Amino acid sequence: MNILKDNFGRKFPYIRLSISDVCNFKCGYCLPDGYRIDKSDNRKFISKEEISRLAKALSELGVSKIRLTGGEPTIRKDFIDIIKDIKKNSGIKKTVITTNGYKLNKIAKDIKNSGLDGINISIDSLNSNTFKQITGHDRLDEILDGIKELQKLNFKDIKINAVLIKGVNDTEKDFKEWSNFIKQNEIDFRYIELMQTGDNLEYFKKFHISADKFIEFLNKEKWIIQTFGKDAGPSKNFIKPGFKGKFGVIAPYSKDFCKSCNRLRITAKGDLRLCLFGNTGISIRHLMQKDEQLEELKDLILKQLNYKKESHYLEIGETGLNKNLSTIGG
Ligand code: SAM
Ligand code: SF4
Repeated sequence: MNILKDNFGRKFPYIRLSISDVCNFKCGYCLPDGYRIDKSDNRKFISKEEISRLAKALSELGVSKIRLTGGEPTIRKDFIDIIKDIKKNSGIKKTVITTNGYKLNKIAKDIKNSGLDGINISIDSLNSNTFKQITGHDRLDEILDGIKELQKLNFKDIKINAVLIKGVNDTEKDFKEWSNFIKQNEIDFRYIELMQTGDNLEYFKKFHISADKFIEFLNKEKWIIQTFGKDAGPSKNFIKPGFKGKFGVIAPYSKDFCKSCNRLRITAKGDLRLCLFGNTGISIRHLMQKDEQLEELKDLILKQLNYKKESHYLEIGETGLNKNLSTIGG
């Protein structure tokens, strides 16, 4: 089988697929003024049928995991049907999502029944005021209710991600609140370092802080670093006896972050992106139109991997094609 591999020996069993650019939140680092239609690009978001063909092609290229993201993926009316279709028809082993969780409490049962394998929920703070300040929405309680619903339904593999924001959610008090949370809940919590995008330079300059601050806290509290598992993402994980959940840190500015890159991205309009911050991205959507195009689609994706670069060059301020992460799913 031809599998996805690049010129630096990296393999790509993992795809992040954005299914909508639309989002209802206004996170300061992502869409501070809310979602705005891109008038320069009137293409529709990829349909369930296109996604279905794409997932099949990816599976045949050795992809075992697809993460549906956005924008806010749960905004799409056919969101649950998309998951069910990938689960049933593609051969992809793990289908997971990243969501802001705004309607988790309403769709928890559908999510469980869809067969979804894992969920990452973005919660930047356990303090309602801080949460509202960051996202523009006072919905923390609903989101936490949604998590309880999932737990009641015995949904496994729940993770929470927060962007680390200087002076906003980076105090020892914040870290301890999360510590208490994962002591009682079998949920992994990870801080992501704030990333610079085309749109957020001022925000980035003001609020970026190295994840070292959190790592120092973990060391002080005697959390134990875990070595990478086979299916590991970019997160460095920490465990501690007596705690049901793990802590994690995603630090894209750290040395060698790109060496373990195992993912490619596809936008909601059907462009393949080789790197979150890359300048290369071509449309592969024209080959998602008919079942007979499967081989051609696989071939095009394989060929594109020759153009994948060794590093994101973020450290020298290269932010690539994306104005913000809502178009490509973080
Ligand atoms: N709307 C969903 C959500 O918020 O989970 C999915 C899309 S969102 C773009 C995916 C992830 O990217 C979220 O965890 C979000 O916090 C993160 N993110 C967005 N912009 C970011 C930035 N500039 N730096 C670091 N993480 C960012
Ligand atoms: Fe929306 Fe997610 Fe961006 Fe926040 S991070 S504005 S929830 S897409």
